[in-house]
Amino acid sequence: MKKIDIIVPCYNESEVINLFYSEAKKTTDRITGYEIHYLFIDDGSKDDTLNKLKIICQNADADYISFSRNFGKEAAMYAGLQNSTGDMAVIMDADLQHPPALIPQMIEGIEEGYDCTATHRATRDGDSKLRVALTNRFYNFVNKISEVDMPNGAGDFRMMNRKMINAVLAMSEVQRFSKGIFSWVGFKTKWIAFNDVERAAGETKWSFWKLFLYAVDGITAFSTAPLRLASVLGSIISASAFVYLIYIILKTIIVGKDFPGYASVVTLILFIGGIIILTCGILGEYIAKIYMEVKHRPIYLTGETSINSSKEENKDEG
Ligand code: UDP
Ligand code: MG
Repeated sequence: MKKIDIIVPCYNESEVINLFYSEAKKTTDRITGYEIHYLFIDDGSKDDTLNKLKIICQNADADYISFSRNFGKEAAMYAGLQNSTGDMAVIMDADLQHPPALIPQMIEGIEEGYDCTATHRATRDGDSKLRVALTNRFYNFVNKISEVDMPNGAGDFRMMNRKMINAVLAMSEVQRFSKGIFSWVGFKTKWIAFNDVERAAGETKWSFWKLFLYAVDGITAFSTAPLRLASVLGSIISASAFVYLIYIILKTIIVGKDFPGYASVVTLILFIGGIIILTCGILGEYIAKIYMEVKHRPIYLTGETSINSSKEENKDEG
């Protein structure tokens, strides 16, 4: 029998985790011909999530891995895939924003011969208007300048076969940007649209600032276009400066010396200063990435886990 792992990153989800498990089970219990296994990743939650997971994971069909601290959802997804032993794996959020009812359709996709069944949100009613507008901009921009195509509204809710899981795991960068990774590895992907739903309970972990930093990561992880922008800006400015120099020399020869323009000098200094700082910042973004990457730090650290622990008492009951 083929095995499917359901990977669920959880960070401070104590309000919703039990509901998630019972709702998801309603769908997965009806799936026949597959062994379904839940793998919860507690991403260093500060609330009661871990205790609730421990109770859930007394069931034979669920395990948890608990990080030593919060490493972020990207790390949680990686840990899930790394510890998955299934023929396929699904990644889904704990807040029921990813409808479990889609899982049978996702299985069908894989059975049809696709390597991956991915979902994208047809609507974004659950998000603020500002977030939707900025997200649209971000995807347009990033798709223009990067080597990968990231469909707008595509979340991490997807099912992958073993071939694709291994490919994703082979991309062992520490600073992970999964949307880009999924697209970069390629493979045949079937897309399913679903209507946006609001979080069942609890709060989103994304502040505006976090989303902004995530966007910057997304751009720098899969594109070096900003570096090129720095050289282009530099060339344009030096060329203009040279033209202006010739103009001043000719003007001095023809009409003689006039009073120096204080305002234009200050403006130019500020302008060029600004560009220099901006380009240093862009360089800095990439250097920071290289710096973090060359350290080869682990993507996550496990604090405790139920994997390989015996669940004898409960297996008898179940
Ligand atoms: N999450 C995580 N680590 C984090 C932040 C979030 O594992 O540092 C999990 C969270 O528990 C949820 C999923 O990632 O299952 C999506 O998070 P959230 O619902 O806050 O994001 P949104 O749906 O608003 O994009
Ligand atoms: Mg959510």
